[in-house]
Amino acid sequence: MRHYLYLYGLCGRYRTDVLIAGGARQGVLIYMTISEAERVGVIVERLRAAYPDATCSLHFQTPLQLLVATILSAQCTDERVNAVTPTLFQTYPTAEAFAAAPLEELEAAIKPTGFYRNKAKHIQAACRLIAEQHGGEVPRAMDDLIALPGVARKTANVVMGNAYATVEGVVVDTHVGRVSRRLGLTASDDPVRVEADLMAALPPAEWLDYAHRVIAHGRVVCKARLAECAVCVLNDVCPSSTVQSPSQS
Ligand code: SF4
Repeated sequence: MRHYLYLYGLCGRYRTDVLIAGGARQGVLIYMTISEAERVGVIVERLRAAYPDATCSLHFQTPLQLLVATILSAQCTDERVNAVTPTLFQTYPTAEAFAAAPLEELEAAIKPTGFYRNKAKHIQAACRLIAEQHGGEVPRAMDDLIALPGVARKTANVVMGNAYATVEGVVVDTHVGRVSRRLGLTASDDPVRVEADLMAALPPAEWLDYAHRVIAHGRVVCKARLAECAVCVLNDVCPSSTVQSPSQS
């Protein structure tokens, strides 16, 4: 039977490492099983405490800018996207301007973000549709957003949640997928299935912030090549943890 550190998770007043290393501290260890819902609650609360200010790290001022930045962020770091977008947004301030841009010029402007030919094609085709069918405004509805070229649920969720404060799903990028799998919240590699699993596991009020915090966690602790379980605040509620708690030994 698997046990978890109940005292830490539900009260949040005691650190696991203090208690485990607590021979000298005379800490009282209390272990008991917790339900999956309680475990998810512990994960949510600890991520909230560890990354209270986590938010979208792409720079934008309008929904259109966020849409374009999110398309550019595929297979690229947000830092690199943020280095490119100030000039890009100044050169092309509207959907109409993106739509009318010579393709080669647009490609050159976004080249540092990689896969620039496809990205330029998608941005231009999406902006054409936005200009022609949505009066130049990025649509707010999921169905309209995913009808835009180059826009799948991940990008639509980013735009809806961060530009329109409307949350209909969970943003699933590479960090959210990997960390959620390690946490046992999904077993799938398919982003659509991962999102469905997370929507079933998490309260809707947590969908947007969970993604922001897991992205931060995936960048600094639960990294793709190295999961630093020894310093992870989730290491006693994570089935992939390489740190063995006394209750599991
Ligand atoms: S315990 Fe390890 S595998 Fe689990 S979330 Fe933390 S760093 Fe990732």
